Amino acid sequence: MRTKTYHIWTIGCQMNVADSNHVAAHLDRLGYEPVDRPEDADVIVLNTCVVRQSAENKVIGKLGSLKPLKKKQPDKVIALMGCFVGIKPNPALQERFPWVDVFMPPSEPAPLVNLLTQDTLNADARAADQQATQARWDLQDTLTTQSLRHLSLRGEIPVAAYVPVVYGCSFACTYCIIPYRRGKERSRPLEEIVAEVKDLVAQGVREVTLLGQIVDRYGYDWGGQPDLADLLRAIHDIDGLWRIRFLTSHPNFLSDRVLDAIADLPKVMPHIEVPIQAGDDEVLARMRRGYTVADYYQLVEKIRQRVPDAAIHTDIIVGFPGETEEQFLGTYRVLEELRLDKAHLARYSPRPGTVSARFMEDDVPEEEKRRRHRLLEELQERIQREKNQALVGERVTVLVEGQRKGKWEGRTPQNKIVFIEHPENLRSRLVEVEIVWAGPYSLQGRYVRDVRPAHEG
Ligand code: SAH
Repeated sequence: MRTKTYHIWTIGCQMNVADSNHVAAHLDRLGYEPVDRPEDADVIVLNTCVVRQSAENKVIGKLGSLKPLKKKQPDKVIALMGCFVGIKPNPALQERFPWVDVFMPPSEPAPLVNLLTQDTLNADARAADQQATQARWDLQDTLTTQSLRHLSLRGEIPVAAYVPVVYGCSFACTYCIIPYRRGKERSRPLEEIVAEVKDLVAQGVREVTLLGQIVDRYGYDWGGQPDLADLLRAIHDIDGLWRIRFLTSHPNFLSDRVLDAIADLPKVMPHIEVPIQAGDDEVLARMRRGYTVADYYQLVEKIRQRVPDAAIHTDIIVGFPGETEEQFLGTYRVLEELRLDKAHLARYSPRPGTVSARFMEDDVPEEEKRRRHRLLEELQERIQREKNQALVGERVTVLVEGQRKGKWEGRTPQNKIVFIEHPENLRSRLVEVEIVWAGPYSLQGRYVRDVRPAHEG
């Protein structure tokens, strides 16, 4: 019998990448094999993002392109997953895209797995499954963990893997749709995460990145003990694991305990992603971020004292409703003064159901948003080039993850991308390199020698 195949299309955040891997692991277990083209797949999964309208447009375009395919080959199973679906049953979506067979909330492979494991894939069974799915969705809010355990990976084992530790988000930043689509904050039990990381390491994974919309709120849903610091310490003990990262942090929850854990634990990389979003107190208040610009400066100062070599990454939204030129210049000043290692820049996009979309006028013209975006991009690019150029001639440690365009590619502890030309296979090796070239977004290094990972004999 012909082997059944699947194709997964993923856009959006790292959590979606992790969710897609989780689905892939389940499909592998059911005997399906991955293929590159949707045309060749029996099961097509679209894992979606709606954080900005541009992402949502991509999803709608992709769904449209699958309609004729489904018409030609009705046996194909089309699964729609992620934030375009959300955690609540959405009959309007089913009506609008009748060629979709199964709808899956973010991080939840069960509806698809259930569908595929039914003996008959007739219409009645599918309808029944949809009903069961809806019942599950109603339950979802009360679940603390996902219903299906994360499975071991199959196929080529990545050197670095994502591990979700907090699902959902209970925060209410006024611009953000994620809490509506991913449900309330649910931390995964510590033992479950440790077991999963051990499993990954046993298969050859050397680096894990712990994921949460607000990862430093890990454990807050059960009162804060254990918290992220405890989790980092527990994972740090796993033999054979070399590196640990976590993202994304919210400034208000990046506790001294977490900073101490980063400083104390050699496997926890000096790399902190902590968005400021805007450099103006009034804008921050309307975003309901819960801190001021001065608070953020203090935090950066504290991080730099406690973890002097830490790379700090931030996220910024330009053109939030009502953002004046002066307020924008506040954001510009923040980037100029703090000289952070990376800034993910976005133009404000009103999202249905959010407070800002309902109550604040999207009054910064698109062209002006683009101008502000471009100014920050140019500034940050200059800063990154300058900071990276200071590394030329220095030696850094790189965990090599694979090859791209004939060069080995890996990352430094600070998460900077390094390319290395070398005749030997460097994959999965921790190597010392001398930086010979630096641009704003990547470095090039010359192999010096292999090095021992932290805490290995
Ligand atoms: N939970 C994380 C990030 C979630 S989304 C956090 O607390 O920061 C990733 C980034 O997308 C956000 O940091 C924000 O900069 C951006 N973003 C979220 N909603 C947006 C919107 N409506 N318009 C533009 N950018 C947005």
